[in-house]
Amino acid sequence: MAIQEKLLTAELRTPCYVLDEAKLIANGEVLKGVQDRTGCRILLAQKAFSNFNMYSAIAPYLAGTEASGLFEARLGFEEMPDKECHVFCAAYREDEFEELLKYAGHIVFNSPSQLKKFGERAKAAGKSVGLRINPECSTQEGHEIYDPCAKGSRLGTTLAQWNSEMTEQLISQLDGLHFHTLCEQNSDALETTLGAVEEKFGAYLSRMKWLNMGGGHHITREDYDIELLERCIIRMRDKYGLQIYLEPGEAVALNAGYLVTTVLDTLKNGDTDIAILDMSAACHTPDVIEMPYRPPLYKSGEKGEKPFTYRLGGPTCLAGDIVGDYSFENALKVGDRLVFEDMAIYSTCKNNTFNGMPLPDIWAAKADGSYKLLARFGYEDFKYRLGSSTPEA
Ligand SMILES: *Cc1c(COP(=O)(O)O)cnc(C)c1O
Repeated sequence: MAIQEKLLTAELRTPCYVLDEAKLIANGEVLKGVQDRTGCRILLAQKAFSNFNMYSAIAPYLAGTEASGLFEARLGFEEMPDKECHVFCAAYREDEFEELLKYAGHIVFNSPSQLKKFGERAKAAGKSVGLRINPECSTQEGHEIYDPCAKGSRLGTTLAQWNSEMTEQLISQLDGLHFHTLCEQNSDALETTLGAVEEKFGAYLSRMKWLNMGGGHHITREDYDIELLERCIIRMRDKYGLQIYLEPGEAVALNAGYLVTTVLDTLKNGDTDIAILDMSAACHTPDVIEMPYRPPLYKSGEKGEKPFTYRLGGPTCLAGDIVGDYSFENALKVGDRLVFEDMAIYSTCKNNTFNGMPLPDIWAAKADGSYKLLARFGYEDFKYRLGSSTPEA
C-alpha cells in the first residue's frame, strides 16, 4: 500500500509532517551511484532539509553537509560528524568567524573583499578556501528570486569584479571555485553553465583543487538525465584535475515527506466551494505563496478535472492563505484527511507561527513501517519567539 494511503488512516494528530525514511534512502542510493561512478562528492544543502533526526539515514550516501552560515554549519558538524562540512555565506560576520572555523572544513567566500578579510585566517586554521563565482549565465525563466545570475545579483563574483580585484596573492589563497546557479533543473542546464564557467574562469580552473557546482540539480527526479550529469562531472574532473562537489538540497529529500491535514469546515462563496484546513499555506508551506507553486495532493485533480472542486485554504486571517484549487471524486466533509506530497524540502525548515498558528508535529515513517514522533510543539514555541520568559535577563 502506498504510504499516502496509510497516512489517511494512521490517526496521527494533524496537521503533521511525515518524513519518509525509505524514500530518503532510495534518493541516497541514486546519489551514491553518481559518486561511485564519477568520484564526485555530494553534500546535503541543509537550507532545504535540516531535519537532523533523519541525517543518520542519509549520511551513508553522502560526503557531508553544506551550510549557509554559523548555525547550519554547527548542525552539520554536530549531526553528521565524521563527514565534510562546507559553508558558503554571502557575508561572514567578524564576531562569528572564529566559531565557524571550529565547524567548517571548507569555507567559500562571496567576494574578493571577504576573501581579503578572512582568507588568511581560514588558511592558517588549515581550511580549504574557495570563492563563489557568478558565471552570469541564466538558465532558468520565471523565478527571478531563485536565479543567482539575474541582473544585479549579489551572489558570486563576476568576471569583471575578479579582474579588477583578484590579485595574484588572493588567487593563490584559493583551493577551489564554487558556483550555484540552478534551481530544480536538469543536467542540460548544468552543461550550458559549465560552458560559461570555462569561458570566463577556465584560465584559473587548473590551479584549483576542487570545483563545487552548487545545488539545483534535480538528480532524483524521474526524468533527470544522470548520464549527462556524469559526463559533465568526468569532463571537468579530467580536463582540469579537479575534485568535483555537488551540494543539492532538494534532490536529497525530493518526494520524501508529506503534510497530513484535516478539513475543519466547508463553505461556499458564489460558485466557489471552499474548504478550510487545519494547515496554513502561509505558515506551513510558505513556498506555495513565495515561489509560488502548487503542491501535489494525493488523490486529487486539477480544478474541474474531478467532480468536486474546492479552494483549499488555511484557518489564518490572511486572505491569501490559499494552497490552491483542487478537485476530488467525492464532496469534502469536515474531518476528511488530505495528504500533501513532496513536503520534506523547504517546508519544516521554513515554518513560522504567524497568526498564532501552531507548528505541526513532525513524524518519521521508518523504513520498517513504524512511525516515530520527532518533534511536537506547543504554545511556548509561539510565545517565546516573541519575548523572553524572563525579560530582564
Ligand atoms: C540553496 C542552495 C543549494 C541547494 O539548492 P537546491 O535547489 O535545494 O538543490 C546549494 N548551494 C547553495 C549555495 C545554495 O544557496
